[in-house]
Amino acid sequence: MKVKVADTILVGAGKDKGKKGKVIRVFRKTNKVTVEKINIKVKHIKKSQSRAGEKITFEGPIDASNVVVICPSCSKPSRIGYKKEEGQKKQRICKKCKETVDVKQATKTTRTKRK
Ligand SMILES: [Zn+2]
Repeated sequence: MKVKVADTILVGAGKDKGKKGKVIRVFRKTNKVTVEKINIKVKHIKKSQSRAGEKITFEGPIDASNVVVICPSCSKPSRIGYKKEEGQKKQRICKKCKETVDVKQATKTTRTKRK
């Protein structure tokens, strides 16, 4: 899966098509993601003897294949490629501008090693 938590994505299908949001959770097994304010669902909790009935809204999972990652560098919905440099972890890059789309590394500050 190419989508990670904290990515900003564009929804490409379904009732929220065209909306943008931030990825909150990724479900690798089912290839689904939940995105902030996308696919809002309402759940009714029946009232019982111990508590009153409630209405809860929550973000329902959507298929990861229906979302496109928005590149933090060029701000465009982009195809994701991979780049691996010697001694480094595999990085996701934007195929348009070749910049990394990994949120933590998007800022161009020098890395400091701290523990
Ligand atoms: Zn880009």
